[in-house]
Amino acid sequence: MSPNPNTESVPANLVAQTWSRPFAPPESIPASADVVIIGGGIVGVSTAWFLARQGVNVVLCEKGHIACEQSGRNWGWVRQQGRDVREMPMIVESLKIWRTLADEIGEDVGYRQTGCLYAARDDAQLEEYAAWLPTAAEYGLDTRVISGKEVAQHIPGAAVTWKGGLYTASDGSAEPHKAAPAIARAAERNGATILTTCAVRGLETETGHVSAAVTEHGTIKAPVILCAGGAWTSMFCRSLGISLPQLKVRGTVVRTAPGESVLDGAVWEDLSGIRRRQDGGYTVANSAYLDHSITPSTFRHAFKFLPALRLEFGSLNLSIGRDFINELRAPKHWSLDAESPFEKTRVLNPDPNPRAVKAIRKGLDTLFPQLADTEIAEAWAGIVESTPDVIPVIDESDPIPGFHIATGFSGHGFGIGPGAGKAIAGMLTGTDTGLDLSEFRLSRFFDGSKIRLYEKI
Ligand SMILES: Cc1cc2nc3c(=O)[nH]c(=O)nc-3n(C[C@H](O)[C@H](O)[C@H](O)COP(=O)(O)OP(=O)(O)OC[C@H]3O[C@@H](n4cnc5c(N)ncnc54)[C@H](O)[C@@H]3O)c2cc1C
Repeated sequence: MSPNPNTESVPANLVAQTWSRPFAPPESIPASADVVIIGGGIVGVSTAWFLARQGVNVVLCEKGHIACEQSGRNWGWVRQQGRDVREMPMIVESLKIWRTLADEIGEDVGYRQTGCLYAARDDAQLEEYAAWLPTAAEYGLDTRVISGKEVAQHIPGAAVTWKGGLYTASDGSAEPHKAAPAIARAAERNGATILTTCAVRGLETETGHVSAAVTEHGTIKAPVILCAGGAWTSMFCRSLGISLPQLKVRGTVVRTAPGESVLDGAVWEDLSGIRRRQDGGYTVANSAYLDHSITPSTFRHAFKFLPALRLEFGSLNLSIGRDFINELRAPKHWSLDAESPFEKTRVLNPDPNPRAVKAIRKGLDTLFPQLADTEIAEAWAGIVESTPDVIPVIDESDPIPGFHIATGFSGHGFGIGPGAGKAIAGMLTGTDTGLDLSEFRLSRFFDGSKIRLYEKI
């Protein structure tokens, strides 16, 4: 196995450059649009791209940079494997979009069909994984249970052995620092207006219907507004009197320098979630290090989140500290003609958990001793927003017609983002995309429905 030839060409801040550039306010903003989108993550930009291609006059407002939060910080997995059955039609559609996306937009997004493998250490784990096969079969996927020998062929460089694994060859990965910015540029080329350093402070209504987005640079009149604000959506909605149960979790990730080839796809196993990057390095994380800072929201939504908390208890590190006080002090409502919380924190940029970085290094060295000298080139963290059943909310708000919400992608929204964008564009224009959004309605958390937790495998 040879070292990767790209070593010289990878900048030191490859991932961080998505969020660490200076802010440049727009020179002007349009007075009106058919649709305003709040948030320039993968969901917002994909929706803008689909709308613009249909000739809709769409303006997207992002308080920081495109992909400055989750969409530029994630692991880059684009997987169908292991999804909740309610997300299946949308993720299958999303994969179709990813496969031709670069050709459609004329820019590289780093997408490669390299497969997704969950490697099992023992029979019990393998059996758990195999329980997902009927879902795969229902949607015609190529998912298979593979033997330990076949796992070793997919991970030829490993120093440990596995009993077997669950493998979907048609899954892939893309490069988060490339994808959403490229889609945003494509939307622009199709006529969308993309405004960065442009926080939306709130909304205006006329006779109860949404009528305008109030940004830090002025008001944009629009009869349809979408909030795709990721981890900020609950706060934005609360300021409008809409309750949206959402909790935040910090995930730590590292990128290694380009190194020896030990695998070529995305592999999940006990010590690591690891993906070979397009540049020959690896994006690596350790699922045992998900941090939740207890805040007043934790208590406010505790009852709804109990099933998810129980399921994730083993991998969630709970702590209480500064975040509790900060949220307690944060305003619930603010004046639309003064600086809002969205401008005060342009980019959610949490520190990576140093214990997680250590554990990732240790896991990597145990699995792949030949990478021991491959340095960790960057470490970062991102804030995941989760709903109680760990699937998204995609819906029009009841109290404010015309105002729509797309959030709560709960740690797996990158892969499904383009498919979600297509479905959301359909929702906003009243066009049938064949993707049923009824499972994603917000009212499921309030109408007495039993919380149907996603099927974790
Ligand atoms: C560490 C980590 C690993 C992950 N790994 C994967 C993975 O491998 N595969 C996968 O499918 N998913 C993964 N995810 C999840 C995935 O990244 C997210 O689900 C997805 O990016 C969400 O996209 P989004 O557009 O909804 O939100 P975001 O990307 O968070 O974008 C929301 C944007 O809205 C902006 N905004 C908020 N409020 C306002 C306002 N008032 N005005 C203007 N702008 C505003 C924010 O600045 C932000 O840029 C991971 C997430 C993390 C953090």
